[in-house]
Amino acid sequence: MPTVAVTGATRVVGIFGEPVAHSHSPTIHNAAFAALGLDYVYVAFHVRPVALAGAVAAVRALDLRGVNVTVPHKERVIPLLDSLSRVARTAGAVNTIVNRAGHLHGDNTDIVGFLASLGRHRRRVRGGRAVVIGAGGAARAVVTALQLAAVREIRVVNRTLRRAAAIAQRFGGPRTRLAALPLAALREAATLADADCVVNTTSLGWRGERFLPLAYAATPRHCLFYDLVYGRSTAFLRGARAARRPVMDGTEMLVRQGAAAFTLWTGRRPPLDVLRAALGVGAAELTTGSPAGSLQSPAKRGAIV
Ligand code: NDP
Repeated sequence: MPTVAVTGATRVVGIFGEPVAHSHSPTIHNAAFAALGLDYVYVAFHVRPVALAGAVAAVRALDLRGVNVTVPHKERVIPLLDSLSRVARTAGAVNTIVNRAGHLHGDNTDIVGFLASLGRHRRRVRGGRAVVIGAGGAARAVVTALQLAAVREIRVVNRTLRRAAAIAQRFGGPRTRLAALPLAALREAATLADADCVVNTTSLGWRGERFLPLAYAATPRHCLFYDLVYGRSTAFLRGARAARRPVMDGTEMLVRQGAAAFTLWTGRRPPLDVLRAALGVGAAELTTGSPAGSLQSPAKRGAIV
């Protein structure tokens, strides 16, 4: 992989999160900077919740060009910013900050990233029903994206019911019905029998954990199981594959949200294949495929921007 030579003029971008060491964002962004010959470097910063305000102030003080914001800061960072994009305001979550001469603008590229990654599945979910597991910042982005994709009904299932209820209240309306349910609902056919997609937005899976009990067989055969966790085989997707349902992991969303953030900071579109190659995504590694498990390369999936 080409490397970035850091000079006195190098612009710095990065990511604030806890944990952050597992993040693949430095890999994809630095590969794209090198490919386009841009004098930028992307660094991961381990930022604890108590240090978030200081870290955001440092974006101004150190004149960073911008940062991504990840777990667990996406909602808490909002009051620390000067302005928000429309989608970030709708979602109530920010994953990208752009420093415009000291004015910090919050945006959310997870939304366009999720939508773009759906590819041909976007048509299938239109007018349909979705089950979203989790109620954190990523869930808010996914619910916003599903609304933009004209999904008619969304069931938000979460360990802390209060957080799911807050999302249902915020996003529910005449065009999309929302319901909040406890984790136990994942065992019930009534939750899943008419679902066109089930999206895991919890962080369960990063450490190889078991997934929650879920009635995979109750879903229609076309139901897409989508895990935001990327780059590993998760128990959530293994269960879906065993039930011969289509599956998709978070790799293409990572690529697409990263590409959108890159453009916000640099004004340039990164070559998507460079980002995918930096993640080592050739053909076979990607856990995106048909129920039979035949894998497709990202380029063949016809993802849309
Ligand atoms: P948050 O910390 O805001 O939310 C985490 C969610 O996971 C909450 O709903 C939480 O439930 C739930 N959760 C955590 N542990 C458990 C558990 N043991 N059992 C049941 N539920 C649990 O994180 P984000 O929403 O910001 O991110 C979630 C995941 O999405 C992360 O893994 C992140 O890496 C991934 N992601 C991937 C992207 C991609 O491009 N592929 C983009 C964005 C995010 P509770 O409310 O009860 O605490």
